[in-house]
Amino acid sequence: MSIPSVEKLEFGNEEKRTVALKRAADLKNRINDYLEEKDEIRTGFDMQEMLSSNRERQIALFNTSEENWQDWRWQMANRVNDVFTLARLLGFNEEQCAHIRRVGMSYRWAISPYYASLMDGTCEHDPIRMQSVPSIDEMDSTGYIDPMAEEFTSPAPCVTRRYPDRLIINVTNQCAMYCRHCQRRRNIGEVDQHQSHQSLMAALEYIRENKEIRDVLITGGDALLLSDRKLDWLLGELDKIKHVEIKRLGTRTIVTLPQRITPELCTVLKKHPPIYINTQFNHPREITPDSKQACDRLVEAGVVLGNQAVLLKGINNDPHVMKKLNQELLKIRVKPYYIFQAKAVKGTSHFIASMDEGIAVMEKLRGYTSGLAVPTYVINAPNGYGKTPVMPPYILAQGGGKVKMRTWENRVLDYHYLPEGE
Ligand SMILES: *Cc1c(COP(=O)(O)O)cnc(C)c1O
Repeated sequence: MSIPSVEKLEFGNEEKRTVALKRAADLKNRINDYLEEKDEIRTGFDMQEMLSSNRERQIALFNTSEENWQDWRWQMANRVNDVFTLARLLGFNEEQCAHIRRVGMSYRWAISPYYASLMDGTCEHDPIRMQSVPSIDEMDSTGYIDPMAEEFTSPAPCVTRRYPDRLIINVTNQCAMYCRHCQRRRNIGEVDQHQSHQSLMAALEYIRENKEIRDVLITGGDALLLSDRKLDWLLGELDKIKHVEIKRLGTRTIVTLPQRITPELCTVLKKHPPIYINTQFNHPREITPDSKQACDRLVEAGVVLGNQAVLLKGINNDPHVMKKLNQELLKIRVKPYYIFQAKAVKGTSHFIASMDEGIAVMEKLRGYTSGLAVPTYVINAPNGYGKTPVMPPYILAQGGGKVKMRTWENRVLDYHYLPEGE
């Protein structure tokens, strides 16, 4: 029996309950496949034994202390970027080492000891390893250097502007870990470089002169690799501009270097509300007690947290993995915001999942789990024309005051949104 249409109200209470019970059983059946698989998809919380044994091994290998390990400056100074150290951590063979050396000549790599400690060294398809350890697949020469033509959308030093009321300031090219799928590879270069004070002043001047800019996104590289003092100054300067209503920071440190989220940093951030931080968790394994603590501190400082995942082949191009990721993010108070279709950036083609897979992921999120766990899947239009949402079709036809709609369960219904005439 299906749910009767609204006009038929002559049902008794018992019949209504019977219908509801049947419907509830159907609803549970809709996610049985997920419920069976869910616990097999591990989070960092499920791997705590491995994480602490990796950490202890590294502390011994670096001949350092637990205290240093917890210090983000130590983590940055000791980013793993030589094959010898990496091989000692993960036990690579000669061929694997040769591949990393070869890729390293074209593309920079570096991994914070913390992020390296999340790796399961025994697994070649480990999602942490795939995102951080160079792969010979990067030598594939297809793809573009700058598919979004960012270089043509910079009206002032370190500014990227593609939208009417908001823009990006790029403050550094530095990251705690250089993602193998990085879409801004061309900026990474060989040396870490923060923007000069002069360039930042010029960017601020551009914002002051353009009163329609109400949302400023500070990113990089990684915005939180600026010092507390520099951030305090920059956020303070933005606060002085009356038309800047909100500030956003783009950082992956919550995932790759949670030690960066110190009480001191949080004291600075708390002084400059409203601040939104978008980070990038791509797999549930990245959700660890350390990253949760970082999120807790930021939330207590009044920061609103969002996630911008990238759809990555072999990592999260699977509806169940993506659903688990988004559910786990809500548990640490991070709102899933975007899923990006990976762009055809040279050296990252092996990560590109098909858009069919992306759409299938979205199909299995909407309705099947909390709306809060459903981000917007977006593609970046060519030439910097902006993020464009992609969705499975829910409106199949429309016109004359009605639509043919398709629900999350694939029920196709005619819906008259205007009352029907006699
Ligand atoms: C992504 C992006 C923004 C922010 O876009 P939202 O959809 O508002 O999150 C702003 N400027 C540029 C250049 C961007 O690429």
